[in-house]
Amino acid sequence: MKISGDWLDHPGTQALCAVLAKAGYQALFVGGCVRNALLDVPVADIDIATDAAPEIVSNLAETAGFRVVPTGIEHGTVTVIAQGVAHEVTTFRRDVETDGRRAVVAFSTNVAEDAARRDFTMNALYARADGTVLDPLGGLPDLIARRVRFVGEAEARIREDYLRILRFFRFYAVYGDPVRGIDVEGLSACATNVNGIDGLSRERIGAEMRKLLGARDPAPAVATMAQTGILARVLPGSDAKALSVLVHVEGDLPPRWQRRLVILGGTDPGGALRLSRAETGSNVAIRDEIGSTLTPAALGWKHGRAGATDTVLCRAALFEAPLPRNWQSEILRGVTSTLPVTAADLMPALQGPALGKKLHEIQARWLASDLYLRKSDLLA
Ligand code: ATP
Ligand code: MG
Repeated sequence: MKISGDWLDHPGTQALCAVLAKAGYQALFVGGCVRNALLDVPVADIDIATDAAPEIVSNLAETAGFRVVPTGIEHGTVTVIAQGVAHEVTTFRRDVETDGRRAVVAFSTNVAEDAARRDFTMNALYARADGTVLDPLGGLPDLIARRVRFVGEAEARIREDYLRILRFFRFYAVYGDPVRGIDVEGLSACATNVNGIDGLSRERIGAEMRKLLGARDPAPAVATMAQTGILARVLPGSDAKALSVLVHVEGDLPPRWQRRLVILGGTDPGGALRLSRAETGSNVAIRDEIGSTLTPAALGWKHGRAGATDTVLCRAALFEAPLPRNWQSEILRGVTSTLPVTAADLMPALQGPALGKKLHEIQARWLASDLYLRKSDLLA
């Protein structure tokens, strides 16, 4: 079995592998890039596993003229930028000690040991520089069947790192087979260890949830998370009911995690998932706008294309109402419109707070008119 892809053939990537090989070390692609190449879906980032120690990787790469950034040196990772492409190069590891959040690792020269500490069998696939796939744990049949299965005993693996609960649902959402359903052993191990989620950092939870909610159809995974009480831990006060309707309403539109998060609600999604200030701001704005009567064009003007699209889709899902006619072109009409009245039109007759108040009132009338009132109408 061989994988292929432009990323694999890239001269920078091949050069980096050749530098390690020439010095007598293994350089194996691992994780997402191998998994995605086998599934024929786009490869986002390149992870390389090696039996060379991190300092050796750094020295060899620098001598070859590549830029090296020690991005995770304490757990054996350096980023090597070769001809413009970033590679996360990590020395083979085995866990020495785990506490459910952080692991103490030791470097290893054995790929089987490295595979054994990875989370799911489909993530423990390796490939040589020529694309030959190595499958030390028999992950390939699982990948082909889209079976997200823990490496080893699910319960034990979750106790080592509770983030794996969220990764289990994330990988099921993105790569699983909803017809076959979620792996039962994995699910029951997640359900008995819900308490472990409370000890995780909100950043790590947030990073997994973004990816999970960005899946084509995260609804089956999220529904299962809700049934097992995991969703309530991750996003208190949320409600998963309307998510599947939203996914249905979205049709072929590109998924957006932000939109899915709006529909889930929650008392404080910004805090629960450590969203940025801007992300929290748009989450609140869209949630507030769902109940308004603004037309798609008005929404486009006020919130931009993405925010308006999210509002229209969430409304349709929550109220189980049809989508407005021509809503996408109407949003674009709004995005490209300008409020016909400016402050200059009202000055000097109005100044200061009175000016602001008048402008605000004019804006509200213009939005309520579906952006059709003209300057003369608005000033009349
Ligand atoms: P993507 O980058 O597309 O989200 P990925 O599989 O590359 O998917 P990463 O989070 O980048 O996911 O992790 C890279 C690899 O490291 C995984 O494929 C897996 O083998 C391993 N890994 C990551 N996090 C864990 C973890 N918490 N426990 C065990 N192994 C992990
Ligand atoms: Mg990755």
